[in-house]
Amino acid sequence: ETAIRFDAIHKRYPDGAVALDGLSLTVPRGQFCVILGPSGAGKSTLLRMVNGLAIPSAGYIEVEGERIGPRTLPRLRRRIGMIHQQFNLVPRASVAANVIAGALPAVSMLRALTGLFPAELRARACALIADVGLEETHLRRRADALSGGQQQRVGIARAFMLDPAIILADEPVASLDPRTSRDILTLIAREARSRGSTVLCSLHQIDLARAFADRIVALSAGRIIFDGPPEALDRAA
Ligand code: ADP
Ligand code: ADP
Repeated sequence: ETAIRFDAIHKRYPDGAVALDGLSLTVPRGQFCVILGPSGAGKSTLLRMVNGLAIPSAGYIEVEGERIGPRTLPRLRRRIGMIHQQFNLVPRASVAANVIAGALPAVSMLRALTGLFPAELRARACALIADVGLEETHLRRRADALSGGQQQRVGIARAFMLDPAIILADEPVASLDPRTSRDILTLIAREARSRGSTVLCSLHQIDLARAFADRIVALSAGRIIFDGPPEALDRAA
């Protein structure tokens, strides 16, 4: 029932910056867990460790019961979707191509295992485009022709392309206006809930954390300073 387990994680970058300082955290399956904290608190480092983009200096991480390491990472990565602050789309590529790219790490394996071919990937991308509230007419448009909010919808569709067990959302709304931010977080929560995906989402705004989190884990200087439901945060404040 555990989706992600961080055990006594330390992270020190080569320049000496300590990003995480002895952090342990267990995230159960299906939870929408918000990592809350100011810039520099270690949120991004924590999220990036789950898909191997950052490597602990000490401690270890288990994803779906398997310890992350060079041998397990390629397989685990196919079960993890990531949503970025700056969307990270290929700007000149079409919306459809950007969404299908969410399956690229696994396309060859999917073909081998299930005979899933690009036409089916395309169909799945179309269905996801509709799920995230974009129109069919968007499919052929260049990603950079879309508004920020629409680009993040594409980012969400891409992240869900492989039906991931885990979604990592690294400040997914930091570049968006307040109204759009709420729409985007609502969408991430809805798509995750309907699939049973676990979400680890970093935010720096306490009001958004309160509104969307099942659980808030607040970080300061690489340590957990609060861990509980939003209601408990109100009592602690
Ligand atoms: P947040 O996402 O909360 O802003 P980060 O994980 O990005 O926090 O950063 C935590 C600390 O680690 C900061 O002091 C930051 O400067 C440092 N840091 C992050 N990434 C790197 C890196 N690639 N090299 C060196 N220091 C880094
Ligand atoms: P975010 O917090 O959205 O991840 P940042 O602007 O903090 O974005 O970091 C962007 C990139 O720069 C990341 O790859 C991060 O690891 C790296 N980075 C952040 N802080 C430092 C730092 N002090 N030294 C070197 N690289 C850093």
